[in-house]
Amino acid sequence: MTGPSSQPNSQPWDLAIVGAGPAGTASALGALHARPDLRVLLLDRADFPRDKACGDGIAPHAVDVLAAVGVHGLLDDQMPVHRLELTHGEAKVSRAMKRPAYVVPRAEFDARLLAAAVAAGAWFRRGRVRGVRAGSSAVAGEVAVDVAGATTGRARTVIAADGAHSVLRAAVSAAPGGRRVHTRPRTALALRGYAPVQPAARGRQRIVFGTRRQPAYAWSFDRGDGLANVGYGELLTGDGPVPSRVLLLAELDRLLPGAGDDAEQWRGHHLPLSSWPWQQPGGRILLAGDAAQLINPLTGEGIYYAVATGVLAGRCAVQSLRGQHCGADAGRLHRQAVRALLGRHLLHTRVGASLVSRPALVRAAVRAAAADQRVFDDLVEVGLGRGRLTASTVVAAVRELST
Ligand SMILES: Cc1cc2nc3c(=O)[nH]c(=O)nc-3n(C[C@H](O)[C@H](O)[C@H](O)COP(=O)(O)OP(=O)(O)OC[C@H]3O[C@@H](n4cnc5c(N)ncnc54)[C@H](O)[C@@H]3O)c2cc1C
Repeated sequence: MTGPSSQPNSQPWDLAIVGAGPAGTASALGALHARPDLRVLLLDRADFPRDKACGDGIAPHAVDVLAAVGVHGLLDDQMPVHRLELTHGEAKVSRAMKRPAYVVPRAEFDARLLAAAVAAGAWFRRGRVRGVRAGSSAVAGEVAVDVAGATTGRARTVIAADGAHSVLRAAVSAAPGGRRVHTRPRTALALRGYAPVQPAARGRQRIVFGTRRQPAYAWSFDRGDGLANVGYGELLTGDGPVPSRVLLLAELDRLLPGAGDDAEQWRGHHLPLSSWPWQQPGGRILLAGDAAQLINPLTGEGIYYAVATGVLAGRCAVQSLRGQHCGADAGRLHRQAVRALLGRHLLHTRVGASLVSRPALVRAAVRAAAADQRVFDDLVEVGLGRGRLTASTVVAAVRELST
């Protein structure tokens, strides 16, 4: 166990967080920034550093959220990536983003976040959580957390940050009042590897949209150290076989020829895409990041959502523990906070995701972004942050449709 110098006593934890990825570590940081003496347990089945299938693209919005909870300069030693290139068939735009993004291998990024959470006062413990019990089968006012091979832990509030295949989300959905959490979100599947960066891909994030089930795209993101994160992902529609690794690799090579040559560390994963309205039951168990089914359905970006909803979950746990309900209304507070931050944005991305099932619209949007920097900037905000599809962007895309 890693944590502050004094051992915790046998009291229940104020907050137990399951999963120490970006959502879990941000939850700890959000809670401890609001109340530094909070007793926070951070559990993960993996030892860190650990790899995670990802494009490794870190939006500046995520860096902003971390700075707000006291984590400054986390990526100052990394190469900023200013240029974003989007291609659909013959249509192409290559422009500088208003603010640079970063491409940082998750083994590195997540380990840095975990170190920051432990430095802030969280206790990190390795353990695979099998489930949680709140209410009648647990002591009133506590949640029992079942950890494989260990005695059950107890906590007054719990944050589920255990990723795309969250066991806690399933438990919350099965609980009374939990019916409203989507148990079958729209899901994408993607495969990534690390390859020597091609000259044409240096200093940029390249995305080439595919023609199979939309959204689908291949990417090559320059890490700045001679390697690029490359990959391909597409929506799973349920009407047909799940795309094989061979097919995903073939699509990558078709859209970005040679980008995957000599690549290593291939790894695939599911992406639970966000929908609208966002759901979170009441009670003591809060959902954040992929466990909350929060991945942008247009771009596959989830790290900003993970840190943003993690920080909100941590703060709501603290607020609830201070109040008269002593943790019991944490879920309601979190639902309100996430909807206030992301509600309209999630509606816009949901509508956008329906529109991009028509390839002509993707092509028109790329052409409109090539013609006008403001359209490009709008699309970047929708794809990486919490922007909305503005009227002028929609009009510009529709105009391109008819040319
Ligand atoms: C191929 C691919 C490319 C992507 N590219 C990008 C990108 O470029 N930019 C971007 O912003 N997003 C990207 N995403 C999405 C991004 O990876 C996720 O949104 C992000 O990892 C969510 O963070 P999280 O903390 O919610 O979950 P995770 O990062 O998955 O962390 C969950 C943690 O929980 C732990 N855990 C799981 N189950 C248990 C258990 N039972 N007990 C204890 N611990 C458990 C895991 O070990 C893990 O450490 C991509 C996803 C994929 C699959």
